[in-house]
Order: sequence, then C-alpha cells, then structure tokens
Amino acid sequence: MRQPPLDAQARRDVKPVICYPVESLPVPDMKRYRNARTGMELKERIVVPPRDACTYNVPAGHFFRIICEGGSQVGDLNLWNANDLTEKFYSGKTRALHGTHITTGERMWSSFPYLRPMATVTDDTLDWYGIDAFGGSVHDVIGTRCDPYTGQLLSGHDYHHCCHSNLTRALADHCGLPLSEAETHVHDVLNVFMCTGFSRDSGQYFMKASPVRPGDYIEFFAEIDLLGALSACPGGDCSSEHSSDTAACYPLVVEVYSPEDGALGDWKSPAFNAYSRSHGR
Ligand SMILES: [Zn+2]
Repeated sequence: MRQPPLDAQARRDVKPVICYPVESLPVPDMKRYRNARTGMELKERIVVPPRDACTYNVPAGHFFRIICEGGSQVGDLNLWNANDLTEKFYSGKTRALHGTHITTGERMWSSFPYLRPMATVTDDTLDWYGIDAFGGSVHDVIGTRCDPYTGQLLSGHDYHHCCHSNLTRALADHCGLPLSEAETHVHDVLNVFMCTGFSRDSGQYFMKASPVRPGDYIEFFAEIDLLGALSACPGGDCSSEHSSDTAACYPLVVEVYSPEDGALGDWKSPAFNAYSRSHGR
C-alpha cells in the first residue's frame, strides 16, 4: 500500500454532494393514492410457499401488499411491465435516486429506455425502523438476489431453491417459457423486509435478522400494468445464512386490491421517458 500524500486528510474532508437531488423528480400524488386506498377492495390473495416463488398480476391503478405471516421472513421481488417483459425493475437506478432502502413515498423505477415509475410505496409498517447503529435498514435495493451461481462459486455445491431459481421457475410457468429464456428476464430485486447495509470498516454487504413480524406489510400502488414475482427467500429472516435448507422459513402473502371507485379521478400511467434515444447521432 502507498504512503498517503501530504494533503490526504484535506482530500478526505471534502464534503459529499448528493448525485441526484430528488427535488427535481416528479412528485407522487400521495394524497390521491391515500384517497384511493381508503376504500380499496381485496381482489386476490396469493400465498407464496417458503423457499419458492409465485407470480401475480396487478392492473395499473390497483394496489398490492406483501404481508408477513407466520414468522419473520424476507422476500425477493421482481416486477415487469405485464405487457412487455423487457421493461423491468431497475434496482441500480432506484438506489441512485432514492438511496439504499425504500419506504413510503418512494418508487420502483423501470429499466432503460423506459425509466418511469412502475410502483410507488404507499404504506410500510416498518417505516419506524430508519437506519440502525450498524448502518442497516429495511427493504433494500443494494442486494441482488441469492442465486445458485454465487453459491457454486463460494461453496462448490448446487442449491436449487435460491430466489433466482425460484423466480425463474415461477416466471417460466407463468409465461410458458423454457427455464433458460425465463432466466434472462429475472433481475436484481427489491429485498422486501430484508435488513441490510454496508459495514463501515470494510464496506462489505451485510445482513441481519429482519425486524419484520407477523402482520407487517409493505404496500404499493401499481403505476403501470404489472407482473410481479415474489420469492420467499431460503434465508428466512436472513439472520445467519441463505442458499440452504437450514434457516426457518415462512410463507409470504400477496394481496391485490382495486382502488375506491372514482378516487383516482383523471390519474393515468406515467409516460415512457422522454429522451429522444438519438444518442448524439
Ligand atoms: Zn433469497
């Protein structure tokens, strides 16, 4: 390692600037969403078995909840435009815009070239958690998803009920696609209920036991027609390990709600991103 330069401390002391000031982002109309959710009606309830995944559809203008039932359990969420799988959740840009973890009033953004809100968080019973003394918080967009490739790399074993494989099987079944094709549509997730951060000393990605308890939920407004897939992670509450059958795992529940009649008024889905796509040519 090199000797630090004489002005090393001065360089370290430079104050950071926020990359993307959210003041210039389109503001979600939370008042309208709150009105629409007041009289919302349960339309569908899906139980996601432990160490497996399920798909579900949410029409634009509807709500969906991911609910903890039975025990502390983390979920890995993928979202697609229900009419075009190439528009999918973009974890990295969501992180750049909102930070490492999302909660009420923040949004899940879609991939290029669409880059528009897919879903807005309208309620989160874990919003009290904030950022703990370790730098941990809940509902992260920093992790990727547990997957069998990293498992093979680190342990030399095949494990088939990782979230990546669960999501792949669920999407393949939903769309009638071969596994190899469905897999190409699976993407980095929103880690629902997962408590994570980066260690201050080494910068490593850490997880700790999720604070979620039965009855907790996170709720979203569907900005566009959505296809969702949710995996009940084999890590359970992710307090110790994942990619194995040792952790206690519980089902997760997805509920889809229609909005109160007329409460959305003239609301319509956000348009695709307005960039010309000419890339300077
Ligand atoms: Zn997982």
